Amino acid sequence: MTNIDRTDEAVAIGRRRFLLGAAGLALAAGFGGLSPRAWAQAAAPTGPFTLMKLPYADNALDPVVSANTIGFHYGKHHKGYVDNLNKLVAGTDLADMPLAKVVAATAGNAEKVAVFNNAAQVWNHDFYWASLKPGGGGEPPAELAKLMDAAFGSVAACKEELKKAALGQFGSGWAWLALDGGKLVVTKTGNADTPLTKGMKPLVTIDVWEHAYYLDYQNRRADYVQAVLDKLINWGFAAQNLA
Ligand code: FE
Repeated sequence: MTNIDRTDEAVAIGRRRFLLGAAGLALAAGFGGLSPRAWAQAAAPTGPFTLMKLPYADNALDPVVSANTIGFHYGKHHKGYVDNLNKLVAGTDLADMPLAKVVAATAGNAEKVAVFNNAAQVWNHDFYWASLKPGGGGEPPAELAKLMDAAFGSVAACKEELKKAALGQFGSGWAWLALDGGKLVVTKTGNADTPLTKGMKPLVTIDVWEHAYYLDYQNRRADYVQAVLDKLINWGFAAQNLA
């Protein structure tokens, strides 16, 4: 099981936390809202956190995202978050939790900011690499297209909203297509923040930290985002996440 297979569990935890509105709520108080099976899964030790294997070769997204960018973005930045996380949780209860549970358990906790930032960045990057694929872009699967029509008027309008979110995010962050209570939404988050902690279910994401595009596009974030939407975005992955 990969880290992002835990999405549902994290969304359930995130929604419960969000609804309770207690930023520093300790999850150690119990998982009363989860089924016994979900609880068993959440409690299953997963060992030290690992850098996911990229689902394609490091030059497979070229020229939209070059092998050079992947070398730094995946090989240095993403790996750095994994390494930092492992150091930060060593010898604590968090070391035995699934990644998404670490994200949920540390969100909003002023004493766990570093753990949250690194855990959320590992989760976000796992999700980002799965959100791209060689030969992506194009038209979404019918089921997703229908939801885009209903929420935004058309597939093109939905893509435009996603682009607007990606360009409108001031500084580092992420643009997301997500389900919020069953409704399709476009949202953006700053730095390591993720819609998971707001009880949303992410469908697809675009990393708009400068490290995602600067080597290939320098300051031209709009060109990077447009190229990702046209040629790399994995709508099949997004549709899969509707289930
Ligand atoms: Fe990144």
